[in-house]
Parts: sequence; structure tokens; C-alpha cells
Amino acid sequence: MKRLAVYCGSSLGGSDAYKTGAIELGKELARREITLVYGGSSIGLMGILADTVLDHGGQAIGVIPRLLEEKEISHPNLTELYVVESMHERKAKMAELSDGFIVLPGGAGTLEEFFEVFTWGQIGIHQKPCGLLNIEKYYNPLLHLFDHMVEQKFLQEKFRSMVLVDDSPSRLINQFSVYTPPAVKTYHGEKRIILE
Ligand code: AMP
Repeated sequence: MKRLAVYCGSSLGGSDAYKTGAIELGKELARREITLVYGGSSIGLMGILADTVLDHGGQAIGVIPRLLEEKEISHPNLTELYVVESMHERKAKMAELSDGFIVLPGGAGTLEEFFEVFTWGQIGIHQKPCGLLNIEKYYNPLLHLFDHMVEQKFLQEKFRSMVLVDDSPSRLINQFSVYTPPAVKTYHGEKRIILE
């Protein structure tokens, strides 16, 4: 694994634990010589994460849409910064550059980015691992929703278990290295039969 995308909040969140978690992840990426690919911003958890990677001798690539360049204040010291024209282009570029996706705590933007790679994995657009860094159990409500979705037969267990979860960056990255993607979801005929 050479490059990992990290989706995370443009805010710091309501507990210092989120900042500590971002720092821990940044150190782990630098230690393993894994390049960070992220949204290119200098604010919130995004900024803390990039600063930590760079301060520990690692590499950080940012991908920021022109319309957010000023609002989110692009990070001035990145190894590389791509300025793209749209949010769609940002996500596509981040996905193309990365071998997997880590999700730190964040808001609606973070979840939007997570759900795109999760659902694209389900239908086989990519075979890369995707994991939630569940700091302070931040994602427990989402994990409960996944259980409910499985119970109610809107989500198959094999796709639910595609989403790797850990509260330690090191253990989460270890899970990434042994990840095997499930057989993809396909639909057949008008009845939308899911083929195993
Ligand atoms: P948030 O989690 O809401 O703090 O946002 C985290 C990052 O996701 C920020 O850099 C936002 O610009 C970005 N973001 C928000 N919405 C989208 C979207 N629809 N597509 C791509 N990035 C987004």
C-alpha cells in the first residue's frame, strides 16, 4: 500500500480525542511511508492530519476544488496540490491516486465521500479497502444503522463487512493489507435478483 486517501472533518469536532486520533493516524502513515491523499485543506482535522504527516517526514497530496480553495484555505506546504474544477473531480482524483480509504470522524462531507467509495466497492467499480477509524465510538450510530439495514434486508452482510472498523490506525491499516473484496453485486432481469 503506497497511498491512502483519508476523508475527515473540516472541523475539529467536540472532543480533543478526534485531534489526537488524526495525529496518531498522521504519524502512522509517515512511519509506514504511506503517502496521504486528502482534501488539500489546512483547516480542521484535515489540516492537523496533513501537518502531522509532513512534520514526521511523510508525504501529503491534496486535491482541492477551485471553489473551496479560499474557503477551506489550501495547505501551503504539501508535497503536491491538485486544484480541480469540481467536487466530482476531487473525489475521482482522490480515488484514482489511492490504494484504500480511511474515514476519520467528520461531517456530512466526510460521510458523502465515504458512501461513494463504499457503494462503488459494492458494485465493483474498485476493489480497494475502506475503513472507519472509530475514534471515541463516533461511528457507532452508523454501525447500528448498518445492522438495521442488514436486518431489514437492504444491505447484504458481505457488503456490510466490506467496511473495516477499528479505533487504532495501525490495526486498521493492518486490516487493509489482508482485505479481500467480496464478489460484486449484480442485478438480473426485472426482478433485480442478486447473483451470489
Ligand atoms: P465535512 O465532513 O462536512 O467537514 O467536510 C469534509 C470535507 O468534505 C470538506 O473538505 C468538504 O469540502 C468536503 N466535501 C463536502 N461535500 C462534498 C462533496 N459533495 N463531494 C466532495 N467533497 C465534499
